[in-house]
Amino acid sequence: MILHIDMDAYFASLEAQACPSLKGRPLAVGALPGSRGVVASASYEAREFGIRAGMPAAHARRLCPRVEFVPCHPGLYIHTSRRILRRLLGFTPKVEMSGIDEAFLDIGDLLPRGADEGIVWQEAERLAGEVSAAVLSEFGLSCSAGVGPNKAIAKMASKVRKPGGLTLLGESRFRQLFWPQPVERLYGVGAKTASALMIYGIETIGELAATRASLLSRRFGVYGEALHALAWGRDDSPVVPSHASPPAKSLGHEHTLERDLETTDDALSLILALTDRVAADMRREGYAGRCVRIKIRYSDFSALTRQRVLAHPTLETRDLYRTARDLFLDHYCGTGIRLLGVTAAQLQPAEGRAQLPLFPQDRRYRELLQAVDGIRDHFGAHSLLPAGAMRPARAGAGEEEDRRDRRPARPVEPVSR
Ligand SMILES: [Mg+2]
Repeated sequence: MILHIDMDAYFASLEAQACPSLKGRPLAVGALPGSRGVVASASYEAREFGIRAGMPAAHARRLCPRVEFVPCHPGLYIHTSRRILRRLLGFTPKVEMSGIDEAFLDIGDLLPRGADEGIVWQEAERLAGEVSAAVLSEFGLSCSAGVGPNKAIAKMASKVRKPGGLTLLGESRFRQLFWPQPVERLYGVGAKTASALMIYGIETIGELAATRASLLSRRFGVYGEALHALAWGRDDSPVVPSHASPPAKSLGHEHTLERDLETTDDALSLILALTDRVAADMRREGYAGRCVRIKIRYSDFSALTRQRVLAHPTLETRDLYRTARDLFLDHYCGTGIRLLGVTAAQLQPAEGRAQLPLFPQDRRYRELLQAVDGIRDHFGAHSLLPAGAMRPARAGAGEEEDRRDRRPARPVEPVSR
């Protein structure tokens, strides 16, 4: 028996939670209305106006002029998704996250063995209710649940009553409910397959089920057989457990130069570029860091690593840069440099917008960073650089390396200046 959990309007719900004045209002997360981007997620209030994910922001605004547009905060969504996974693992180790806001739980082991079928379904229903209630009470997020004898039915069941519903479907009930529906509703069937099926006069799931499997496999190969089985509500794919990946201990970038750097200005410009990339990674993955580390390798290959602990964790480029710059100026011995590295360590989850800065100028800086992240998501990591990082001497030179450490935690050594 499989339970499928699907969060309702996941991004929009998290944004409304981070900014309570948005609660209960039509909300479009993603592109801003002046841009050419699309809506990534719409609250149920916005869906009443016909606003959907994937719709251009300008179109959404025409449908509902008072819709609130909010930029995406991927770090928050990923971090919360990991926390939800950890919570679900408290019910069973057999949890598979599928995408950022959906999960399959194999609940077979949690149900009474050899019991009457009615009792088994009753127990499955109770368990599904318990899981949804835990997600709602512990994360303040509503989800829809589906229970079925396999992944395909469970996934299709969770879509039946959205938002906040629970649907249990056995194979025969599944056929009753889904056979009259268009083939696109079948798990794993996209618009392309649907239009290929249309050529054979197959428009509903029932018509697909009534088609000979041999005909489907002649046209679609192995996939044809799977399609036929799915139409009958049969799916033997297992739940493949996702493990809550260990949180990163540090995030860093380093750069090996083709020609040695000789001046402090050039070195600082590279340190700014590296810090900027580290900070962008931290925001994307939802971390703040308390420790900044720099690495200098001189032309004679001697290397030096120095670190400093900040008073507060931060994910802002300028705080990280100031510390990296001071470390460099304190320790640089004035000869040629062949490699520089910047790393943020002692990472901890940044709770998204929950820690909004106190002062207006800091809020503006945070908004600037969000805008920069948005532009880079769209146009690539190199589409924007801090002006101070753009020095012609370095253009195109050398190799950069992404350094992240996910080794298990070691006892933390006391760090001094
Ligand atoms: Mg969802």
